Amino acid sequence: MTDRPSIEVHGARENNLKNVSLKIPKHQITVFTGVSGSGKSSLVFDTIAAEAQRQLNETFTAFVQGFLPHYGQPDVDQTLHLNAPIIIDQKRVGGGSRSTVGTYTDISAVLRVLFSRVGQPAAGPAFHFSFNTPQGMCPECEGIGRTTQLDLDKLLDRSQSLNGGAILHPEFKVGKWMWKMYPLSGLFDNDKPVRDYSEEELHALLYGADVKVSFGEFGSKYEGLVERFTRMYLKKDAAAMSERNRGVFEQFTTSQTCPVCHGGRLNAAALASRIEGRNIAELSGLEATELIAFLEGLSDPTARAIAAKLTQRMTHLAEIGLGYLSLGRETATLSGGESQRLKMIRHLGNSLTDMLYILDEPSVGLHARDVARLTGLLKALRDKGNTVLVVEHDPDVIAVADHIVDIGPGAGTHGGEIVFEGGYAALKEADTLTGRFLAQHLPLRTAVRSPKGWMTVQNATLHNLKDVTVDIPTGVLTVVTGVAGSGKSTLINDVFVAQHPGAVVIDQSRVGANSRSAPATYTGIMDGIRQAFARASGEPASLFSFNSEGSCPNCNGLGVTYTDLAFMEGLTSTCEVCEGRRFRPDVLEYRLRGQNISDVLDMTVEEALAFFTEKKIKGVVQAMQEVGLGYLKLGQPLSTVSGGEGQRLKLATELHKKGSVYVMDEPTTGLHLSDISLLLGITSRLVDAGNTVILIEHHLDVIRQADWLIDLGPEGGRGGGEVLYSGPPQGLLAAPRSVTAKFLLPR
Ligand code: ADP
Ligand code: ADP
Ligand code: ZN
Ligand code: ZN
Repeated sequence: MTDRPSIEVHGARENNLKNVSLKIPKHQITVFTGVSGSGKSSLVFDTIAAEAQRQLNETFTAFVQGFLPHYGQPDVDQTLHLNAPIIIDQKRVGGGSRSTVGTYTDISAVLRVLFSRVGQPAAGPAFHFSFNTPQGMCPECEGIGRTTQLDLDKLLDRSQSLNGGAILHPEFKVGKWMWKMYPLSGLFDNDKPVRDYSEEELHALLYGADVKVSFGEFGSKYEGLVERFTRMYLKKDAAAMSERNRGVFEQFTTSQTCPVCHGGRLNAAALASRIEGRNIAELSGLEATELIAFLEGLSDPTARAIAAKLTQRMTHLAEIGLGYLSLGRETATLSGGESQRLKMIRHLGNSLTDMLYILDEPSVGLHARDVARLTGLLKALRDKGNTVLVVEHDPDVIAVADHIVDIGPGAGTHGGEIVFEGGYAALKEADTLTGRFLAQHLPLRTAVRSPKGWMTVQNATLHNLKDVTVDIPTGVLTVVTGVAGSGKSTLINDVFVAQHPGAVVIDQSRVGANSRSAPATYTGIMDGIRQAFARASGEPASLFSFNSEGSCPNCNGLGVTYTDLAFMEGLTSTCEVCEGRRFRPDVLEYRLRGQNISDVLDMTVEEALAFFTEKKIKGVVQAMQEVGLGYLKLGQPLSTVSGGEGQRLKLATELHKKGSVYVMDEPTTGLHLSDISLLLGITSRLVDAGNTVILIEHHLDVIRQADWLIDLGPEGGRGGGEVLYSGPPQGLLAAPRSVTAKFLLPR
């Protein structure tokens, strides 16, 4: 390499990395490739990003550091010339109901300025148009746009008494602290069914009475059930709650569009102010592309100057394939891929330069047509003077790299080395898995399987779907295609699954990030493993569980201990008693074919496949191997597996259930080109065994191998929502309005 400035990594050994050293050119786009599990994240996220973040934090005072997340020192000898990192991953953008596409990107702020300057009648300065300020928000719904009421029929079983469990909320179960207020109040006959209460009694139960309740030594003012529920739950933002709490919350409430602002979130003065007939809530409800058209049509010169700024930001949204989103869309409802692209927009809007941008598979969820737009944004980030690192499998993204680092040769212990460094042309000639697969494409399938029967989706109108009725064939592999936002997930994950209960849905929601769960427990083979140890030792199976009596008493079976540091995030260290082995020393004495329980949990799937003879365990381990997870350790905490790995773990688990219809949302996420034939092998076997498989997918090789295609479009959002084609792959080529058709044949 020339003497261009570069980032240097010396001796990296995180996870499976084999003491690797490399230089990464600054102010360029570097793409990291390699099969799933080869070590890309270990290098890019666990080493480079972690170290950059840690070095950045060290520049702050100890006081400020106390408020920052704690980063352990990665296992690397030295890293040089790192810049401040900005990590753009697929974690959902949180923030509750008050976080929208517009607030998150700051584009709404510009729209508010526009209204404060030219809106008629004038309503004030710009914060009077914000639903997050007291001056702007609708007083009824406090800027949420929806109001939520307690549903008493769901909360109370009137046929029961207080002692009999009349209050149905789980936190108010008989015997619980929250429940005690009512029987201890002395106001009720605790064995009388609620339906027999007098009017006064019912009023006291629901809306309160002026009494004090004593709980042993404590006293507290009595609060009616409705008062209490309102204070504790209704005043909180459901979108910001944990999934479990939200589930409970939604079970006992009904919500509807706010009757005062009609969902506009703002007060009457703000909503009365208009520009060319439209108020700010209406403009926030338009799709980005529609809003751009409206802004371009403005005639007032003051308006045009501000509108130009807005249009520029909105155009970025459209360019990256998000033109179907409105500014008012809540960020909590966006998919992982959409969230990641929105983060990119936010960073394009800032003027920072010489940053280190790190992206994780930004092509997820993007149609082949839009990948070109994505690569344009990557180049824009680079051309602003930033260094851009991307972990990616998509050939079109790899093609725009200035520099490529290919990691391999295989996964897990078979990976962790750098097998190629250089440009795209050289990679195509290189004898690595990536190099070989870049050069080849699967052909369009012509000899397709014939449908065995049909499942109909009837008159679907959810979100953007335009009264869609479509027959989905059984007994074949169907792939649902279309640009982002065309309605694929709405049609399949929402409508089809609701109309055809029983379908096994394998999505990318987390597999549960509990530090005690691991592939062995998630797939259910842990039970079999414990029983095998019990048979071999004559001891009870429970002894071999790290959640019970056999576990190390010092770390309670976690293998690690946590040290609390007053202001800082706690430190995690390997348990010094069991040295990370999780079990008591006497439990480790028992062996199954020479290995103790800790050795077994430390095996990779591939090793386990050679080790186990037990039929049930072997079957599941075999399935894990088949989905490309041979490198995963049976005891690896699930909190460390990626979304794509988690999805394949689900797939391996579900393969053993007797489903008949399988639905998968972008199963190629995180998969290397060479892993895709594995995936196609699995779906093919499922179909040959008489099952139905439905995939939502952008990957062209997968699309070409379908028996049946359903193409939605033509565009995203209101411009989409129609079925453009439904039939065997070959026929799509002749579908006139289909964007997918243009990419169907290998180039
Ligand atoms: P890639 O990003 O190429 O898919 P990773 O860097 O995520 O690969 O993983 C490389 C190897 O390290 C795999 O064997 C993986 O299971 C393992 N690994 C990743 N994270 C952890 C972790 N936190 N603890 C233990 N092993 C890990
Ligand atoms: P695809 O799966 O093809 O990317 P989606 O089904 O996610 O498309 O989206 C179709 C349309 O429905 C888009 O206009 C999208 O903005 C809208 N949409 C999807 N989910 C929601 C939601 N939770 N709330 C409001 N609109 C949504
Ligand atoms: Zn309101
Ligand atoms: Zn321990």
